[in-house]
Amino acid sequence: MLAFGGNAIAPQGAGTAAEQTERLWATMRQVAELVTEGRSALVLTHGNGPQVGNVLIKNELARDVVPPVPLDWCVAQTQATIGFTIADTLTHELDRRGIAQPVVPVVSRVLVDADDPGFQAPSKPIGPWLEDGDEVARREGEGLRFLADPDRGWRRLVPSPQPRRSVDRAAVELLLDDGAIVVANGGGGIPVVDDGEGPLHGIEAVIDKDLAGALLAEEIDADTFVILTDVPGVAVDFGTPRQRWLETVTVTELRAHADDGQFGAGSMGPKVAAACAFVERTGQRAAIGALEHIVAVVHGRAGTQVVPA
Ligand code: ADP
Ligand code: MG
Repeated sequence: MLAFGGNAIAPQGAGTAAEQTERLWATMRQVAELVTEGRSALVLTHGNGPQVGNVLIKNELARDVVPPVPLDWCVAQTQATIGFTIADTLTHELDRRGIAQPVVPVVSRVLVDADDPGFQAPSKPIGPWLEDGDEVARREGEGLRFLADPDRGWRRLVPSPQPRRSVDRAAVELLLDDGAIVVANGGGGIPVVDDGEGPLHGIEAVIDKDLAGALLAEEIDADTFVILTDVPGVAVDFGTPRQRWLETVTVTELRAHADDGQFGAGSMGPKVAAACAFVERTGQRAAIGALEHIVAVVHGRAGTQVVPA
């Protein structure tokens, strides 16, 4: 199971469709190399921060023309466009290598608890900075929460609940068993809750993509869970003169560094938490490394390798 960070897809601020496709394509060339080596049972997941932010901006600007759609719809839209682009570029790279393996993106839901404490304390800023204070006050009256910044205005805060179960896991397993490369739980998955009456329904939240990736990796019995991002791995004393990259660490050592406050809350923290959770629950290996080194990270020759004990 491979998880790609937002940087795999879009530069900061999010590029044009052509730029995003170009970035993903470079990543998919390396994935095709893995397949060529025989590592062909793959599930891919991805972030969607910049993309879902763009969809929200369009919602805001067009709200007087077409009705805005809820956040779960926005996540579904980004799964579709990113999934399509991965399928297109990876299929092309496999074709060039004479490999006829299908690539199938799954629009995927992830169950969260309606009483998750995250719903009481929305913590994740998303979308554009808004400037109209009256508008923000009106929307606060409707129950939305905002982060206020004296220079930039207001930005929407949404809950980031824990992922409990990948609803579309059976579809992912069917496709994997039939030899497909599957793209699933993109953007952390479409958050849904089960109120016991009727269908599951979407809820306004954003699930952390590293945690949702770790969950699916465990559910499908992945032998390795690899998180690819824009740094060579996990460092202690990150950004200081004493900075040291971790090569192979036990989950116990890594947890100790996390307890020591070594990892950024909205960045490396959730990756470390996701890697540790996967290794603790499965006894398998996780790795965190650079997007440019996918093959070496998968083989344990680069990045931070997280092992049991
Ligand atoms: P992605 O978009 O791939 O999910 P993030 O930006 O969320 O990536 O997280 C990666 C970032 O985490 C790195 O660019 C780095 O700035 C930051 N970071 C924070 N603490 C650490 C650490 N201890 N070691 C390495 N990177 C760290
Ligand atoms: Mg980033």
